[in-house]
Amino acid sequence: MADLSAMEIYQELPQTDCGDCNFPTCMAFAMQLANNQVSLDECPHVSEAAEEKLAASSAPPMKIVEIGEGEEALEIGGETVEFRHEEKFQRPTVIGIRLSDAVDEAEIGSRVEEIEELEFERVGEVISVDAVSVTNSSLPPGEFGEFVRKADEATNLPLIVLSEEPEAIEKGLEAVGSGNPLIGRATEENWEEMTELADEYECPMAVEGESLEELAELTERITDEGVEDLVLLPEYSELGDGLEKFTRLRRLAIDEEFSPLGYPLMARVEDGQNPYQQVAEGASHVLKYCSVLTMDTTEPWQVLPTLATRQHIYVDPQVQSSVDSKLHEVGDPGPESPVLFTTNFQLTYYSVEGELEDAGFSAYVAVKDTGGLGILNAYADDQLSGEGIVETVREQGAMEKVDHNRLIIPGLVPQLRMAVQEESGWNVEVGPEDAASIPRYLREEW
Ligand code: SF4
Repeated sequence: MADLSAMEIYQELPQTDCGDCNFPTCMAFAMQLANNQVSLDECPHVSEAAEEKLAASSAPPMKIVEIGEGEEALEIGGETVEFRHEEKFQRPTVIGIRLSDAVDEAEIGSRVEEIEELEFERVGEVISVDAVSVTNSSLPPGEFGEFVRKADEATNLPLIVLSEEPEAIEKGLEAVGSGNPLIGRATEENWEEMTELADEYECPMAVEGESLEELAELTERITDEGVEDLVLLPEYSELGDGLEKFTRLRRLAIDEEFSPLGYPLMARVEDGQNPYQQVAEGASHVLKYCSVLTMDTTEPWQVLPTLATRQHIYVDPQVQSSVDSKLHEVGDPGPESPVLFTTNFQLTYYSVEGELEDAGFSAYVAVKDTGGLGILNAYADDQLSGEGIVETVREQGAMEKVDHNRLIIPGLVPQLRMAVQEESGWNVEVGPEDAASIPRYLREEW
């Protein structure tokens, strides 16, 4: 809530300290609201007048737009900062894969299956694509509706329906009826017909323009007609040019609060270029500053880097990613299984777990709370000592689960081996420096 201080917000709240918002006092809630950490609707007791006043000043400089409906609906936009160190980015990039109408209708189902299978487990999370981008590039506009209908029947994912031809979009919308797809592309030439369709079907619309001035003029004309859920699709010739435009758009929206450009951004990574370039382009657009990205490929190796980039960007950089500090069981460990020690830095733990699982090893992994720091950082920060390792392993009862006394500590801190051994009396072994070498180490040493 950029414009109001915590005290000004507090004045508008009921001041009953009822706790229904999960904060003990209205002041605590007001402070969180002033820092954009909660939303106003978490207090169920705000009066209508106060709600109006607070909502008006809390409207983010970039519009929030919804694509799809029901459980699969996706929210984009509403970003409030240019840099992640200022505040967490709010709404992750929607990544859609293109389903071109050049595909034979009989292959729609299998192409959609390929799209939906683009799902990966990475550092303990499932990451996947979010939408199907049904694109009119070859069928006559009058036949596009049937293609969109079949695509819609084949997937539960939200649709992005794209064509330069208003007639094709109209047929597509007639075919799916509702569903709140993102439609486009509204341009200088077709914006009036496209706006009528977005208005009639109450769906969000992508507006395409070459220059920022053209985009701003278009959005002003379109919003004058009552359509406000817009996404900006800037044209560009090369990636560098595109990134410059996206950065300028973000600054104008956030820093200048220039409302004609205060909308989420969209980019398309198209086939026909070097496949490695497509990977670079996809990841770059997630970094700078796309809220919607469509890609043409269904190759997992090309899509995964973009999804992984999104996974990294849309976390709070001020909060270390960590896992529970406890004894983790990987696979189905028993009395003979190895006992490993590591810290609760999320990436470290899931790398260890993933390597063990992929190699088919079962093991106990004792995880120490280092505030989310990795091995070397924890050691440098005096959070990892021989005594601390022994205390963690003992408290978690790791050695009671096995009928041996061998403990494997990370290869990055071999200097702690003697301290752990002397303190515990266990047979302490120094494992490899990196998680990827754990399977080979266990095959050779265990
Ligand atoms: S729910 Fe509303 S009234 Fe109750 S403590 Fe929270 S802010 Fe105050």
